[in-house]
Order: sequence, then C-alpha cells, then structure tokens
Amino acid sequence: MTDTDVIIVGAGPTGLMLAGELGLAGVRPLVLERHPQARETPKAHGLAGQILQLLRYRGALARFEAATTDPMPAPRFPFGGVHLDFTQLTDSPLQALPLPQQGLERVLEERASELGAEIRRGHEVLGVRQDEATVTAEVRGPDGVYEVTARYLVGCDGPRSRVRELVGIEFPGVTYPEVNRVAMVTLPDSVTMLDNGDLEVAGFGTVSAGFTRTDRGVLGVGSLTPGVLFLSTVEDEPTEYDDDVPMTMDEFQASVRRVLGADIPLGDPIRLSRFTFKARHVDRYRAGRIMVAGDAAHLLPATGVALNAGMLDTVNLAWKLAAEIHGWAPEGLLDTYHDERHFAGARALLQTQAQVALRRGQDPAAEALRAVFQELLVDEQPLRRMGALVAGSDIRYPRTDPDEHALTGAFAPDLTLHTDEGTTSVAELLHTARPVFLDLAERADLREIAREWADRIDIRQGKTGDRPADAVLIRPDAHIAWAATIDESAETAARTLRAALSRWFGA
Ligand SMILES: Cc1cc2nc3c(=O)[nH]c(=O)nc-3n(C[C@H](O)[C@H](O)[C@H](O)COP(=O)(O)OP(=O)(O)OC[C@H]3O[C@@H](n4cnc5c(N)ncnc54)[C@H](O)[C@@H]3O)c2cc1C
Repeated sequence: MTDTDVIIVGAGPTGLMLAGELGLAGVRPLVLERHPQARETPKAHGLAGQILQLLRYRGALARFEAATTDPMPAPRFPFGGVHLDFTQLTDSPLQALPLPQQGLERVLEERASELGAEIRRGHEVLGVRQDEATVTAEVRGPDGVYEVTARYLVGCDGPRSRVRELVGIEFPGVTYPEVNRVAMVTLPDSVTMLDNGDLEVAGFGTVSAGFTRTDRGVLGVGSLTPGVLFLSTVEDEPTEYDDDVPMTMDEFQASVRRVLGADIPLGDPIRLSRFTFKARHVDRYRAGRIMVAGDAAHLLPATGVALNAGMLDTVNLAWKLAAEIHGWAPEGLLDTYHDERHFAGARALLQTQAQVALRRGQDPAAEALRAVFQELLVDEQPLRRMGALVAGSDIRYPRTDPDEHALTGAFAPDLTLHTDEGTTSVAELLHTARPVFLDLAERADLREIAREWADRIDIRQGKTGDRPADAVLIRPDAHIAWAATIDESAETAARTLRAALSRWFGA
C-alpha cells in the first residue's frame, strides 16, 4: 500500500495540467512544489497551438479565455525573424490565447484542486528511489524532512529537473548564446513618441521604431498602448541565466547601453522578463516508474510553443498512468508515452531549430534566406503547413501497422454529430476524457464488439456529413486509435478493431 498513486514534482503549468488530467481519469495525485507561494516572475505571455483545441475538447477553454484581460492577438505569429501572417485565412491553423503565465497557473491550479489533486507548496523533493512496485520521494517540508510513497512519480520540475538528474536521464543538446530581454515601461517625460513610432530622446536624438541592429545586438522599440513603451534587446552572451531569477531595470538599462552605446531614459517598469534559448531533449521520457514531462523533458529554442509541448505531454501520459493504476493497462502501454511524446518533441525541435537558423544569421545570405522564406509564406498551402507544424496539430503518432487507416495516430477532427438525442460533436464527447468508440455508419457489428470493453470506453453513434470513416476509436487524449474505412468488410473491421481495443484498452 502506498501513500498516494502518483506524485507530481512541480506545480508549474505541466505539473498542474497533469494533476487535472489525472483527476479526470479518476486518480488523485499529490503535487509537491518547492516554492511556498505561486510564481511571481513573469514568464509566458500566453498559450498557442493544439493545447487550445484540447482544452476546448475538455469543455475547459472558456474558463481560460475568461481569465485573459488582454485583447485577442492579431493572427500573426513570429517565426525566426519572419512572420506567419494568417490574416488572409478565415480559419487560422494556429490558435493563440494571450494569458500571462501567472493567470494560466491560477486557472490550472483551481481546476486540478476541484478534480481532487492535493497540492503541497513549500515541499521540495530532495531524492527519489524506486523498486519493482513503488517510488519513494524524500521531501523537505515546513516541518522537516519526510518520505512519501507512490506507484508512479512524474518530474514536472522544469529545465533544471532534479528528478531527471536523480534517475540518470540524459538531456543532450545545445545552449545558444543569445539573451533576450523585454521591458514594458511607462514613457518618461524626456522621451517623445513621434507619429511614426520613432522615439525622440532628449540629449540623444532619434531612436527608430522597429528593430535597430548594431555590432553588439538588436534593440526593438514599439508601443501598442499610448504612454507605454515596449522595448527589447537581443545580445550574444555566454552567461547562463536562471529563468526564476527576475530581470531588474538596472540589468535592462545596462543591456540597452551595450547595444546602443547610449542610455535611453525609461519610465516605471510594468513588466520585465528575460529568456534564453536552448535546444535540449531527453533521451528517454521514462525510467521505470518515474517519468519526466514539460521543460524537464524538452527545451525549445523559439518563443510561444513550450507550454503547448509540455501540457500535451501530460494529456498523453495521464490516461496511460490511470490505466495502470486502475489495473487494465495492456503490456507496453506506458512505453508508448516515450515513443509518442519523443516523436512529438522531435517535431517541435525541428521547427524551432529551423527558426534559429532563420533568425541568427546576420550576413546578406541570411537576409536572403529570410526574404525567400517570407515570400513562400504568402501562399496558402505552405502557410497552412507551417501553422500546423508550429501548432503541433499535424502530429500523427507513429503507426505500428502500415495498413492502418490514414486517420490512425492523428488528432480526432471535431465532427458535428447528428444523433437520436440531438446534435453533438466529437469535442463534446471528449469532455469526460473517456475513450470513445464512435459509429458513424450504423455498424451494429462493430458496436457489438466494442460493448465487450464497455466498462472502459463509451460507445456512441451518430451521423456526420462526408464521414471520414465508418467508425473511429478515439483515445482520451483525442488521438485516433483505430478507424474503419468506408464500407470495410465486417471481417477485417472486426479483426482490426479487436486488436486496437486490446492494444490500447487491455484484454
Ligand atoms: C521570460 C519567459 C517567457 C516565456 N514565454 C513563453 C511563451 O510566450 N509561450 C510559451 O509557451 N512558453 C514561454 N516560456 C516558457 C514557459 O514559461 C515554460 O515552458 C514553462 O514554464 C514550463 O512549464 P513546466 O511546468 O514544465 O516547468 P516550470 O514552469 O519550470 O515549473 C517547474 C516547477 O517545479 C518546481 N520544482 C523544481 N524542482 C523542484 C523540486 N525538487 N521539488 C519540488 N518542486 C520543484 C519549480 O519551483 C517550478 O514551480 C517563457 C519562459 C520565459 C522564462
């Protein structure tokens, strides 16, 4: 008997999302967070990518939208020195929600607590050990050091993950020397903003709006709100910064001085942040009963996509852990967490490292590369493709059998479904995060088979315009486990359905 089923180390967005997903799957995890209070240091500006679709499929998106105070962003997304401009498309392939990370964590924490998670703040994990059946964490809490046991432990403990280090998971990759600093400040009296956005600085002269490249780096100047300046610097520096140590005004002022060779007077700080870029990826997401997720598993060298990758790790992992705990997990189910999320992490690294190559070059050849890239992105097809790549919506988990239906492994499309009870959708069916067998062509033969797994999966029936398959089996993470081609023979469909049900949901 263990103290709890799952220990989650870290109450960042990854740990809190995992706690909520486990709660939906009927598991009450224990979250251990070393900081006594919620995070103060500003980090992410918002969410972007497929995680927003997933939250919609959970019926939870409105709650996150309600927490945002910023206006919705223009449908443009930075991509390594160029822009993906989706304004020409009526249905952008890349969704974004401006929601500062503190607000995001607040909503995730509320949701996780409502779903039964216990969150202990001020409890730092010092050590972990495991045997065949259990994991033990050594924890320093406000009342001293104690031990807690569980069946599984997940390290959601960020880039410097102690869990990763303790279990010997390698984290190979590179750290790029560029340091990005961003300051939102009030406009001081000695600075005038001209109609074209340039700044007139008393005693210095004009500083252009947009980006000024100097020998020492890049200075960015802009403003979205009257009276508020948005300034940024990019410099190459060999120093490694800790993301949890906030940037100060002095640090920012010194950076501007180095880049521009002069001081710009700044008003009061509204928001200050600093970030660096690393491309690192664990060699395995799992070591026995211990797993890693989020920044503990991957660091991506571009803005806007890290939360997407980390939170989606947990959506993949939670139902598999729950299946182990509820006792029906088939052999090898937990191994698919590594297989699938390592594959997804590699795709995220592919597009973010491409951004490094596009962004960092300073010579005319690099300018030419950016120009060519920007030209290609005017056309709809490459633009849609890049949007899907950045969003992670094109992820199709590797199939074991090349004859499987083309939908297998893909994120389930949100079909509108006409049923005897009225109109519903795939998104609504997934609110409960239970697997769904969905019959789209009155295939009583296949429903009959699915009924043998009725304690684990929901069986639903509906009609949809232009159906992509006769029936689909959708996993709790909204990826398709199996599909029957249109008018597929009863014999083949029955055989492959049974195999898929056993493979994903046990005998
Ligand atoms: C300035 C900045 C801007 C960013 N902007 C964006 C953006 O716009 N979009 C985006 O997607 N991403 C952005 N990111 C990245 C994003 O913030 C991270 O990807 C995200 O925080 C990772 O979440 P996580 O839960 O995996 O790790 P973390 O947020 O690092 O959380 C890990 C948690 O584990 C706790 N912990 C660590 N060790 C222990 C231990 N031994 N015991 C107990 N608890 C422990 C930590 O205290 C922390 O609370 C930005 C990052 C920075 C620094």
